[in-house]
Amino acid sequence: MPALRVACPDCGNVKVDADGVSLERSGTTGSTGTYVFACPRCGDRVLRIAGPHQIERLIRSGVTPPVPAAVSGPPPLTTDDLTALRRLLATDDWIDRLDGDPERPE
Ligand SMILES: [Zn+2]
Repeated sequence: MPALRVACPDCGNVKVDADGVSLERSGTTGSTGTYVFACPRCGDRVLRIAGPHQIERLIRSGVTPPVPAAVSGPPPLTTDDLTALRRLLATDDWIDRLDGDPERPE
């Protein structure tokens, strides 16, 4: 596993294995976040804030990106949903019917 340079507030720059760094993304785009590592000199668990460039550098260095949390919300669209939408959009009054049931017969 490749080593990467990170900064401990007490020890300064130290090298840690990429698999010893855990990355968490935050925000709506996940472009910022935090990363945690155990300092190889003092043994402290260090939490650092990561901006977009830092996150990119960590991932490029071999840190495993976090698995996105399950997205809550409506179920994903199915082929049947898309077929119904396509049928709806083929009608002249689709805009008026958009709030209604697309499966409703004309
Ligand atoms: Zn340290």
